[in-house]
Amino acid sequence: MTTVPAPTVPAGRGRAREIGHLTLEPDGATCQCGGRGCLETAIGAEALVQRVRQSRPRAGAADFEHLEDVVRAAKEHDRSACG
Ligand SMILES: [Zn+2]
Repeated sequence: MTTVPAPTVPAGRGRAREIGHLTLEPDGATCQCGGRGCLETAIGAEALVQRVRQSRPRAGAADFEHLEDVVRAAKEHDRSACG
């Protein structure tokens, strides 16, 4: 059986060392860890909620406060929740 080694995130300057903080875009959005363009800023729960909110300008912000709200809307076949 062949195993694939888990990706590693270089340590440095107090940044968290987890996969969500792997840099995707060096000039990307600022992350809560202090880095820029982390995976978290692209597909983290908060990033996904933000993308849905931006795609639904008429919906109230309260409609999508948490990722669970987006998942619920997607399960209800609300296409706008799918970004
Ligand atoms: Zn980060």
